Amino acid sequence: MKQYIVIHYGEIALKLGNRNFFEAKLIDNIRKALKDFGKISLKHQHGRIIILVEENFDLELIKERLQKVFGIEYFVFAYNSEQDLKQIEKDLYSLIKKKKFKTFRITARRSQKAFPMNSQRVAEKLGEFVMKKMKKKVDLVNFDLNCSIDIVEDYAFLSFAKIECRGGLPVGVSEPLLCLLSGGIDSPVAANLMQKRGAPMVYIHFDAYPATPKENSEKVKELVKVLNDYQFNSKLYLVPFLDIQKEILKIAPEDYRVIFYRRAMLRIAQKIAVQERILALVTGESLGQVASQTVENIKAISEAIDLPILRPLIGFNKEEIINVARKIKTYELSVQPFTDCCSLYVPKHPVTRADLNLILAKEKDWDFARLIDSAIINSEIYKI
Ligand code: ATP
Ligand code: MG
Repeated sequence: MKQYIVIHYGEIALKLGNRNFFEAKLIDNIRKALKDFGKISLKHQHGRIIILVEENFDLELIKERLQKVFGIEYFVFAYNSEQDLKQIEKDLYSLIKKKKFKTFRITARRSQKAFPMNSQRVAEKLGEFVMKKMKKKVDLVNFDLNCSIDIVEDYAFLSFAKIECRGGLPVGVSEPLLCLLSGGIDSPVAANLMQKRGAPMVYIHFDAYPATPKENSEKVKELVKVLNDYQFNSKLYLVPFLDIQKEILKIAPEDYRVIFYRRAMLRIAQKIAVQERILALVTGESLGQVASQTVENIKAISEAIDLPILRPLIGFNKEEIINVARKIKTYELSVQPFTDCCSLYVPKHPVTRADLNLILAKEKDWDFARLIDSAIINSEIYKI
């Protein structure tokens, strides 16, 4: 029997009038994720993507790769029997005779209507066969083994375990976004959640070198590499921020420094977004997590620019954010020692209810436009 990977996608099958576009992107992303396995034989039939397993396929690695392709709901490694009940029984028996189980269920699907039995009947027949032949019990709820039979187009797929993926939309179906990426735990998770909604990321990181160590930028590049597993390649802007911070020390009250840093960051990010034709920014803010993330402060910060700022983590608890960070493997990198530029020169108790009028008054005579342009001119751009 030949082995196949049968990929099921959910949400995208229902999408707007754009179904073909979504499916084409998904297939394109699957091909990219499996690029180093050489030319693959892939068919798209009846809401499934079917890939023939070749000799050189490392199934563990393929599993890892496909679990990072957004848009996939789940997939199975399946054996193809024939569209003939007797043959299906034989093949099923050969596949399960060595498996250890007491109870089982048959899950049948038939989308090939030319097959003479409906799915209910197929399940009954195969259930009866396994019961008699192997003296096992059917238990539809608490089963040890689930045997799936999927009769579709020219195939009769037999499989045993669903490999769940994260769903979402294929990267590339949404507009690109500019993510403010720090070296912390939150912003890489924010980036990944927006990738999950189909948006490829461009990244911007603000660096206070030489007041912060040179390794900071290496760490950020490593984070981008991990996130590239979901979108294959990306661009990172590394913006020198220390000069601006020094100017802020002169004009801002001590407890307002972080707010001034953030407003300057957003202004720079907005300019780069416009150059890149990007329509919105992404940050890793979560309501109430730190002083700068109260509603008052979020308002005072956001007011600096016109572009929308997407904050996918706004309602997440730290624990929930960490769980995602572990799953996507950014956590290990994020917890390595790192001094963010925002933690330089800030007091223990920063303001939690920033007064916008005070900010505007202090910024009025400040030539930040010149400083911002100079930071952008001096940024480094990496294609990763
Ligand atoms: P993170 O874990 O992402 O660093 P955080 O909980 O530490 O977030 P803050 O340090 O207040 O929160 O930062 C809030 C958001 O501002 C970050 O999630 C990130 O989007 C952005 N940000 C902070 N510092 C930087 C930086 N040096 N470069 C780019 N973006 C930054
Ligand atoms: Mg941080």
